[in-house]
This record gives sequence, C-alpha cells and structure tokens, in this order.
Amino acid sequence: MTLTQAPSIPSSTPPGVASFLARDHGLLIGGHWRPSRSGHRLVSVNPATGRPLAAIAAADGSDVDDAVAAARAALADPAWRDINPLQRGELLHRLAELVEEHADELALIESLDNGKPVAVARAVDAGTTAKLFRYFAGWPSKFEGSTIPLSPRGGLRVLNYTVHEPIGVVGAIVPWNFPMSMASWKLAPALAMGNTVVLKPAEETSLSTLRLAELIEEAGFPPGVVNVVTGTGATVGHAIAAHPGVDKVAFTGSTEVGRLVTQAALGNLKKVSLELGGKSPHIVLPDADLEAVAAAACDGIFFNQGQTCTAGSRLYVHADIYDDVMSALIDRARRIVVGPGHDPATGMGPLVSAKQLATVTSYLESGLADGAELACGGVRPAGLAGEYADGFFLEPTILTETTHAMRVVQEEIFGPVLVAMRWTDVGDLIDKANDSPYGLSAGLWTNDLTQAHRIAAAIKAGTVWVNCYNLTDPASPFGGYKQSGWGREMGRAVLEQYTETKSVWVNLT
Ligand code: NAD
Repeated sequence: MTLTQAPSIPSSTPPGVASFLARDHGLLIGGHWRPSRSGHRLVSVNPATGRPLAAIAAADGSDVDDAVAAARAALADPAWRDINPLQRGELLHRLAELVEEHADELALIESLDNGKPVAVARAVDAGTTAKLFRYFAGWPSKFEGSTIPLSPRGGLRVLNYTVHEPIGVVGAIVPWNFPMSMASWKLAPALAMGNTVVLKPAEETSLSTLRLAELIEEAGFPPGVVNVVTGTGATVGHAIAAHPGVDKVAFTGSTEVGRLVTQAALGNLKKVSLELGGKSPHIVLPDADLEAVAAAACDGIFFNQGQTCTAGSRLYVHADIYDDVMSALIDRARRIVVGPGHDPATGMGPLVSAKQLATVTSYLESGLADGAELACGGVRPAGLAGEYADGFFLEPTILTETTHAMRVVQEEIFGPVLVAMRWTDVGDLIDKANDSPYGLSAGLWTNDLTQAHRIAAAIKAGTVWVNCYNLTDPASPFGGYKQSGWGREMGRAVLEQYTETKSVWVNLT
C-alpha cells in the first residue's frame, strides 16, 4: 500500500515537516534505511481527518532477523563496545540537544500522527524526551559495582567485586499514546548501559520515532546500535519477542499483549520487563480544595484524550462534597475545546484511530446499558465538519451512578471517559480502590497528613500522587503492581533492568 494522495496535513505545516511526511519511510537496519524485504507498506492515518498521513514500511520476520543480526554485530563492534562511559554519556547528551533543537518539528509530527494537541506534544512528548536523554547521559560514568567483604573458610583471602555489563540486544516494543517518549523510556537506559536495540514503534504512530532515529544517527551513535523496524504487532512485535538473538524484551502496551510477549519470550528465556495497563483510582477526601480537585480530576482523565496508562479513570469523591466537586468538574469538562491537534485552541484532540474510538464507544454503551448515567459528553462534538468530518473525535465524557461491578469501572477504557463514585467509609474506599487487576498509579487529595500517609501506604500501586496528579520525572521509579507490569522504568531502578551483574572472585591467598 502506498500513499496515493498528498498527505492529509494542515496548510500551515512547515515545508520541512511536509516533505518528511511525504517520504516513503523505510526501516533503519545496521545504519542503512531501506524498504521491507517484502516491499509491503502500511499507511499511517491523520486521526483528525481520518485520511492518510504517511506511508511506512511493513516489515516481517526476515527484516527482524536482519535487524537482530545488525544489533548483535554492533554489540561486538569496538566502535560501540570499547567507547568509555563518558563517551557514551556524550552521545546521549548530543541526542538530547538534537531533540531540543528539533522539538517543534517533532511535536508537530507527533500531533499530526497521534492526534494530541501540539502544545502537549511539545511540552510533554518532545520536552520529556530531551530531559530523559539528559538524565540518562549522566549514568554510564556513575553506575558502579561494589567491593564485597567476604568470610571464606580455611583462611582463604578473596577479593570479590561486582561489575555491571550490558544485557546485549534489547527488543523494545512500544505503544501509540506517547510514541516517541515511550520509545525513549527504553532507548535511554538501554544505550546508557551499553546495549544495542531493535525498536518497534506502534503501527499507528511510527513517524516521530523514525525522525528520532535520524537524530540518533546524527548524534553519532555507531551503525546498528539502534535499529527501527516498523510494522504490525502480530508480525514484527511477535518476531522480536520470540527471537533467539534478542536477550531482553522491554514492552509497553496492553496487559493482554504483555501476556503474549511474555509467552513468546519463553523460547530463549530472554529477560522481560513490562509496562502495562491501568485503571487508576483518583481519591478525594472531604477536606480537599474543591477547585484544585476539579482541575486535577479533569486533567487526570482528559489529558492526552484519556489515552494515558495512568489516567485517573476511577474518581472516588467523599459524599459530603460529591455534588460540589462533580458540578465543578462537569463544568470544566464541558469547556474543553475538542478539535484537531495542530489548532492552538484545541484542549483535546481526536482519539488515535477509528478502532480506538469504536472500543471507547462500545464501553460507553455497556456502561449505559448497565445503568450508569451520562453526566456530560458521550457524543461526537458538534461543529467539526469539512475536512474534520471523519476525524475520530469524542467529547469529554463523565459517567455517574456507576457501581463497582460494571465493566466501565473494572476495565481500562483508554479514552476520555471518567467513572465517578461517592464514598463514606475509608476502609471500604481502600478496598474498592484496590479491587482491580491493575496497580499502576493512584491520586489522593487531602490536607490531613495522617490520612494521606495511611491511604498512600494502603494503596496497591507503583505510584501514589498526593495533592498532585500525573507527574513523572526521569529520576523517579515508575511501574506497576499486579497486572500493570514487571519491573520499574526511570531512575536508578531501571538500570538493573538493562544490565547483568557479574560477581568476580579473585583468590589472593
Ligand atoms: P498494544 O498492547 O495493543 O500495543 C503495544 C505494542 O505492542 C504495539 O507496538 C503493537 O504493535 C505491539 N503488539 C501488538 N500485538 C503484539 C504481539 N502479539 N506481540 C508483540 N507485540 C505486539 O497497546 P496500545 O493499544 O498500543 O497501547 C495502549 C496500552 O498501553 C494501554 O493498555 C496502556 O495502559 C498501555 N500503556 C502502558 C504504559 C505504562 O507505562 N504502564 C504506558 C503507555 C501505555
């Protein structure tokens, strides 16, 4: 499939971005850009118009074989293997600089491909990507092993020390909600620790990663250190997860696909780390500041069109202030401007794909059939006609009168749909907040210090935000309890996931 018409882009698109989108995008393997072996392509769609945006290569297992071979060769190549930690750090610093220099361009590509408002793509996607590479640029020269005092038998004198070594070839498989940033969450620590990478972006949103790959080359990383293979999950993702030449697979995506990846990885028992779904409780105590809560609850769910793994999608408000919080929140939700991501007035863009819109709509229908009430939204916004008539838009939606057994309360919707519930007893609240297969994150609003710490301790989640929501930082560990994942990203914690620890014993007797 090729792009038979001009890319669906606004007339304001700068020529550099327009010509990037109009290219026939290939695979990056061993430092060369080339089509897939089969010659097949996929079309990436502009979610604001529902029309083709760009053509990308659709790889298959033979391309993955090539990419893994290139990554293995680069691992053994002195150009990568023998550079010192400061030099590895310098490459990552240079990449951070290039991302900063090209941040506007990367943000626009992300916005056109994913649908998100361009200001969000600029601040969150491009901004955090640059910050992430900067943070990890400092680690190669600082992730030290230890010297361990031993107590051997028989008067032996032994020197025992540990060293951290790269795991080898990392297969990275990432989703479409924060495409470039999710790719960088894997790339930055993997490269900092001296690994090589075969990266598969989501088929809906490969473009920012392809542009990032060009910047990786420009930064001076040797050929084959980063390889990008675009295509479908069932073909390319599965081939990476199952490949005997891949030493570790780092996956971010749905819990369902996380299971498939883990099963595929069993053949060579490669290391597996997983960042999966969530259904995060956002909890409001009776003393909380009403306006602050309404603003945070609104942003907590509608940010990124609700397509955020940490979305505060289950709102639990104390009965004493429920009516006031809900009316302030509904008022805010109704004022969000829904439109194409490139329009500076847009607060919420389209969902990423027709498929995702259909999934979210079917959840809405199930909630209403189960007895939930529609407090706002639930429909396509009026007024988006002309070229936006076929875009994947949905108004910010709030369901009330929801009960815990409903599917809309139990399952991850991954769209702009909030379910709201009242609570009165804190023990019951904690039970309900924890009654989920997920455990990624939670939010909590109160000025009662004791309650804040007690509830934070009782919640089974990898992140708990108190009087804030959805903050992340490259220095702070991030990951899920229960079926929200295995392992942690960010901070020192993630370095363990991209290294093997070797214990060396030297007999000094
Ligand atoms: P997805 O699981 O459908 O796809 C994720 C990636 O896996 C894509 O690149 C896809 O092509 C690939 N894939 C699909 N089938 C595969 C298979 N059989 N083998 C190997 N790879 C395969 O997820 P999505 O719809 O792209 O993203 C949404 C999900 O991601 C949500 O559940 C969300 O919560 C989760 N997510 C989690 C985090 C986190 O950090 N915990 C962050 C972002 C998104």
